[in-house]
Amino acid sequence: MDFLQRLARSLDRPLFPWKKLILGFSVGQYIFESFLTLRQYRILQSTKPPAVLSKEISQETFDKAQAYGRAKAQFEIISGLWAQVQNVAFIQCDVLPKLWSWTGDLLLRWAPARFSGEISHSIVFVLSFIVIQQILSLPTRVYNTFVLEEKFGFNKQTPALFVTDMIKTNLLTFALVPPILAAFLKIIQKTGNQFVFYLWVFAAGLQLFTTTAYPIFIQPLFNKLSPLEEGELKTKVNGLAATHKFPLQELFVIDGSKRSAHSNAYFYGLPWKKHIVIYDTLIEKTETDEIIAILAHELGHWKLGHTTRLFGIAQAHLLYVFSLFSVFLNNKSLYNAFGFHTQYPIIIGFILFSDALSPMDTVIKLLLNILSRKFEFEADDFAKGLGFRSELASSLIKLHAQNLSTMDADWMYASYHFSHPHLSERLKALDWKPKAALTSEKDKDKDGSATATATGRDEL
Ligand SMILES: [Zn+2]
Repeated sequence: MDFLQRLARSLDRPLFPWKKLILGFSVGQYIFESFLTLRQYRILQSTKPPAVLSKEISQETFDKAQAYGRAKAQFEIISGLWAQVQNVAFIQCDVLPKLWSWTGDLLLRWAPARFSGEISHSIVFVLSFIVIQQILSLPTRVYNTFVLEEKFGFNKQTPALFVTDMIKTNLLTFALVPPILAAFLKIIQKTGNQFVFYLWVFAAGLQLFTTTAYPIFIQPLFNKLSPLEEGELKTKVNGLAATHKFPLQELFVIDGSKRSAHSNAYFYGLPWKKHIVIYDTLIEKTETDEIIAILAHELGHWKLGHTTRLFGIAQAHLLYVFSLFSVFLNNKSLYNAFGFHTQYPIIIGFILFSDALSPMDTVIKLLLNILSRKFEFEADDFAKGLGFRSELASSLIKLHAQNLSTMDADWMYASYHFSHPHLSERLKALDWKPKAALTSEKDKDKDGSATATATGRDEL
């Protein structure tokens, strides 16, 4: 704590150019990410599939996947530029202090006097800010769904569904943000210098609550989950779960096809009560044994303790964010640089602090992706150890072909952006021999060692 206080003092320098620094971070990050995208773009222009895929992926599919990748890369650069323009304009035109005083006036004029405090003001401010950002991001979201995804045959959303989704999301935001934000601010107001610990406990509790409440109250608003029908698939999944003492409670099929042709499978739930969810698109497009291989991979994440470790890391990360926030909370020079001279609202401090922290976020994202890719290899290896080498390889190939996922990647782009190794890497690690391996005998069971429980959700 002593160290944090000294750090806080040394960072609070009058007239320190915080605005320039944060603008520099933001523009610098965009340039760096665009540089990576351009590197990846070169790979996406290649016309020959990587050797390991040459027999599995038709030239036509490969060409289409490359074209899809290029379209997405172009979209990334343009939408990123649009976000940059907004960000720079927001900072240069002092949108934060203007919006703060405008929402303050609004409350004074229209709301009863008891709603004039910082908490009510912050809630109105944040909701207005969210609405503005939603409106500004609408063009890119519409383009992504109805032009980009549509062109490659993935979009299944109608404009009506898009609009109802948006209305539902907004209603949820307006219902959930006020109580959560109020609690967040109240904790900081009440506990003073000790807020880090209390906020951390609150955030952990909130995560636990969301994990439990999301599938029951929120997901049904958007998707339909139906129990998997009796049959070969269900019997085999239950068998797999029983063999590894996976606490499987329910097996669901989700109507992912309502919005997108992309497919996947995941599980979620509390440590002692897990549910597996399979996309209807996955069932439609892959063989039963391939789905089992995918679930064996997921089971690997659970059995090898990946979910537990990621949950632990998320908690450590929160603690780190809140501790650093305590350093910036009373930094008058930061508030002053952004046009706040008489009032120092906590929420504004948090927004400015998040911007100042963005270079660290980039580093953390990089490290987490490295760890995540390591876990993916381990989970693949787990499935391979259970004898699913060829089924896993063929399901990965099928899924990548159907989703037109990137099949090869620039190493710098992949290190930074990918939470999963790309297809060629995974097939190599599986020791996949094109065609020949399809008929090879299955490996003997060599079980993973660590048994652990966790909450959370993992995708293939
Ligand atoms: Zn995985």
